Amino acid sequence: MRIILMGPPGAGKGTQAKRLVDKFGMAHLSSGDIFRAEKAGGSALGQKLAEYMNAGQLVPDEIVVEIMAKAITSCDSPAGLLLDGFPRTVAQAEALDAQLDQAGKSLDGVVVITADEDEIVERITGRRSCSDCGKVYHVKYLRPQNDNLCDKCNVQLVQRADDTEGVIRQRLAAYNLQTEPVIAYYRGRPNVQTLFVNGTQPPDNVTADLVQGLEQLKTEM
Ligand code: ADP
Ligand code: ADP
Ligand code: ZN
Repeated sequence: MRIILMGPPGAGKGTQAKRLVDKFGMAHLSSGDIFRAEKAGGSALGQKLAEYMNAGQLVPDEIVVEIMAKAITSCDSPAGLLLDGFPRTVAQAEALDAQLDQAGKSLDGVVVITADEDEIVERITGRRSCSDCGKVYHVKYLRPQNDNLCDKCNVQLVQRADDTEGVIRQRLAAYNLQTEPVIAYYRGRPNVQTLFVNGTQPPDNVTADLVQGLEQLKTEM
């Protein structure tokens, strides 16, 4: 199963991706996680990525496509692939199509987790993550057992540099303008299913809807 997971920032892509990978066993590739790791390493490329990410702007397509093409080549397995945060522009989707075509592979589904703007702002301002293992929490909705400490690593949770209200508005604008057209790009294509899941529900309900949708998709593949 080769799936693209889409949705506005804060919709719950990362949270749900981890659960789907546990359930279905495919590889999980998050462009945001890959970029943040590069950024944390302090390379010249990482500094370049940071310029865009900290401003809430999309990283230019050429840079994204180069990094993600390599990651996909080394990661794609018979168990499948869950792409989280990529492609985010129509140009990136075209590049992905070309890469899969060349490898004789294809995409099976596009899954969109939806959430409205107020919910998104609330989720992103309350998002905290573990600097060691990357596990994501929320100060209100998905709290750690001990205040501000990772359940697994016992280290302090941190807030992402771009998770501020001002930057969120910019990221949302980028989503509406540049990423939403990707849904239309894939929609109606034979052999690619598009699935919308209401992300404004408790996490377990979102997971249940996603699992049901993907099981259905598997039977139709
Ligand atoms: P979120 O989880 O809030 O949706 P991500 O972690 O996926 O955010 O991405 C964080 C930032 O990394 C984005 O705001 C953007 O600057 C950059 N980024 C991630 N994926 C892409 C992509 N496919 N194209 C361009 N920029 C990207
Ligand atoms: P994305 O990867 O789409 O940016 P995340 O999975 O990081 O989104 O979730 C954003 C924030 O919202 C995190 O703090 C996460 O703990 C929280 N969250 C995720 N799903 C839900 C949900 N269904 N209800 C409430 N909070 C959620
Ligand atoms: Zn941790």
